[in-house]
Amino acid sequence: MTATSTCITDLTSAQIQELIAGLGEPNYRARQLQHWTYQGLALSFDEMTDLPKTFRNRLAQKVQLHSLTSTHEVVGHDGTIKTLFTLSDGKTIESTLMSYPTAKGGTRHTICLSTQVGCPIGCPFCATGQQGFERNLTPGEIIDQVLYFSRRLRDQKDETDTDWDKPAAHISNVVFMGMGEPLANYDAVLQAVEMLNSPQGFGLGARNMLISTAGLIPQIKRLSQEKLQIGLAISLHASDDARRNELVPINKKYPVGQLIAACREYCEISGRRISFEYALFEGINDSVNHARSLAKLLAGLNCHVNLIPSNLTDSQGFSPPTRGTTLAFQRELVRLGIACTLRQRRGLDIDAGCGQLRSRLAKTMQT
Ligand code: SF4
Repeated sequence: MTATSTCITDLTSAQIQELIAGLGEPNYRARQLQHWTYQGLALSFDEMTDLPKTFRNRLAQKVQLHSLTSTHEVVGHDGTIKTLFTLSDGKTIESTLMSYPTAKGGTRHTICLSTQVGCPIGCPFCATGQQGFERNLTPGEIIDQVLYFSRRLRDQKDETDTDWDKPAAHISNVVFMGMGEPLANYDAVLQAVEMLNSPQGFGLGARNMLISTAGLIPQIKRLSQEKLQIGLAISLHASDDARRNELVPINKKYPVGQLIAACREYCEISGRRISFEYALFEGINDSVNHARSLAKLLAGLNCHVNLIPSNLTDSQGFSPPTRGTTLAFQRELVRLGIACTLRQRRGLDIDAGCGQLRSRLAKTMQT
């Protein structure tokens, strides 16, 4: 695989049709190719048995079927799977599959995707933020993370579970919350969302997808005009500029007051509820007074707060609060009328926090 090769998943439906037309093949071959890629989860062109062999060979000379290779994997006690992928240029990203039991005895699968190699935002508590920014991912590199985990789930399926005609039916949620700032890679992320959602593509409901942002106001305004049903989450972590400047440095450019105004506008235009992610750090943003300040900031906004007791990183000075402090914070928010849930901490034994596995492996390789 070369660094410059195009991948099928980098192409829109219209571009796949152009590719097929350029190869002198009838239009329906585009549908077959997309079906094998997104529903058949094909690993090689050889699997596409209803395509003529000569055509498969010509396709293989033009495009790649995959843009990433799984090079390391860890599985946590709670079943969380963290995978390190190597890209065609040798750079690495990581993604996570989290599986939750449902009340009806089934399992919900959520995939957390990366959108950039490294991240330009530089939050000091985040392992990715400390690695710096290298490059944006292509749409195909984003989509292929979903196809990889879908294939993995299919291959480990129960023998009695034959219903794999629609892989998207087995994925509950796709969240753009891994390495990188999704809205800083806007066009590629939106193209990936479109193909993951499209019936000709993966076919996952838009409402099952969630994009997170550190608060890029121009892109939030742009997203509000897209008429998409996807969810939006803001990584807030502090309700005042002084504290947020430290925790989420992009706040110096887009301060809290302007960010919340943009969020109110987003809710009005899109008609959708917005989520706020609030990672709790002991002694920094976890007091009852901080909860009051947060409730005041969000008053009247159609929103939901996800409280996240922080995953420990290698960063100095960022520890999760005690359970008692966490529950007191949550109680105060609820008392003040803010809808709020405490996120389950997943994969604590396997570096499941954003960028932690990549960071640890990089250190291992240096020593
Ligand atoms: S927390 Fe998110 S936005 Fe901040 S540095 Fe890490 S990946 Fe980037």
